[in-house]
Amino acid sequence: MSATSCERGDKPREECGVFGLFAPGHDASRLCYFALYALQHRGQESAGIAAADRGGEIITRRELGLVSQVFSENDLRTLAGELAIGHVRYSTTGANAWENSQPVHVFSGSNGSRRELALAHNGNLINALELHEQLSGEGVQFSSSSDSEIIAAAIAGGPQEQLEDAIAGTMARLRGAYSVVAMTRDRVVAFRDPHGIRPLVLGVLEDRAGAQRYCVASESCALDIIGARYLRDVTPGEIVTLAEDGLRSRMAMPSARGALCIFEYIYFARPDSLMGGERLHAARGRMGAALWREAPVAADLVIAVPDSGNAAARGFARAARLPQDDGFVKNRYVARTFIEPGEELRRHGLRLKFNPIPEVIAGKRLVVVDDSIVRGNTTRQIVGMLREAGASEVHMRISAPPIRHPCHYGIDMSTHEEMIAHGRSIEQIAAELGCDSLHYLSLRGLYEALGVEVAEHCDACFSGRYPVAGSGAATGKLALAGSSPRTG
Ligand code: SF4
Repeated sequence: MSATSCERGDKPREECGVFGLFAPGHDASRLCYFALYALQHRGQESAGIAAADRGGEIITRRELGLVSQVFSENDLRTLAGELAIGHVRYSTTGANAWENSQPVHVFSGSNGSRRELALAHNGNLINALELHEQLSGEGVQFSSSSDSEIIAAAIAGGPQEQLEDAIAGTMARLRGAYSVVAMTRDRVVAFRDPHGIRPLVLGVLEDRAGAQRYCVASESCALDIIGARYLRDVTPGEIVTLAEDGLRSRMAMPSARGALCIFEYIYFARPDSLMGGERLHAARGRMGAALWREAPVAADLVIAVPDSGNAAARGFARAARLPQDDGFVKNRYVARTFIEPGEELRRHGLRLKFNPIPEVIAGKRLVVVDDSIVRGNTTRQIVGMLREAGASEVHMRISAPPIRHPCHYGIDMSTHEEMIAHGRSIEQIAAELGCDSLHYLSLRGLYEALGVEVAEHCDACFSGRYPVAGSGAATGKLALAGSSPRTG
């Protein structure tokens, strides 16, 4: 196992988290810093903040690393201001990894029509290549392979009078997934693609004098940490402006077929976040109960693959009236490491991250609950560790359907080859994993457990039904020389 595979495990990776606020009277970059802490699970390879005082210069700090590694107290003092936006991101390593960190900071125009803009993006454009060519033809020079820079360049080069007009004109050119926060010297704006594929919520922060300041975030857990209150989701196709005169809203694009990523409910978003108006912790418990109803099994004990399977395991155990315990201790400090484990440690593989507790496991018929399987490597090793620790039977229960199709909307699952479920039956997958039985929650069971509408969500990685026309062609992948084509 390489250091990278240890860190990645078998989970799909959310590409980014974004935050923005307009908050005169507050230290906006410090609030942004803490909000990014709450969004750290959405991206652990780079972090950045752009901040300004009203009318002042925009200052940006972005770097590879965790939020706690990127910003010092001194950085936050330098970034002090009343407006701020922030970003956390995954990227692939490579020469241009830093260039792909965000917020991007662009300038355009001349002779007094100069527009300065900082921008952070969660999602993936499927027409990035086409737009890159168009904008290059218009004379725009790019410093990264990120489609976020394409969005920023298109806005910065748009009509100079009104920022929101330039954004509306840009949204009409974009295809794919985008939840964006951006700032100029006097306002923060946020906008969301007409399908609403990636989440974006609006919150309000009240100071002691009762003044209301607005903020936007990928998830409501980022509002909680700064004491802001969740107001509503940003509507697909909407631009919200946070400025001196408060909050303004404009529908820039008619909302299309709703396509919020169903994987946000299953895994990406934190269990304490609200999604579709409901706290995810409860929804994930119901998914576990649905798993029991679909595939009951005679067993002695239910354990979770921590932490992703915790809530569903609790739901399963309750529904099955089976005892539940911790089968593994998870090392919570395994983040990205550049240290290769070496041959000797490589044999121990996953133990860097999970260590089984033999006294809990030995002699037991186990139900092991996890939320998803992409490649299968981690699950195979987990089954092996449980057998080594003395489990008499291992029954895997997965609280999502099999992942059989790539994601083109900002999640790191881009090829069929990396998916264990692609082209295999459930029996074949179970044999590959070495477990006694395997059941994935059905798509219907998933929607019933969540209580949400099929027609309002994207489930393409399970069903192959892509909500945005042209997604299958994956035309959006940029392949600049020496660059990583990941997006924000
Ligand atoms: S394809 Fe899957 S991971 Fe990608 S947006 Fe749709 S549901 Fe989410």
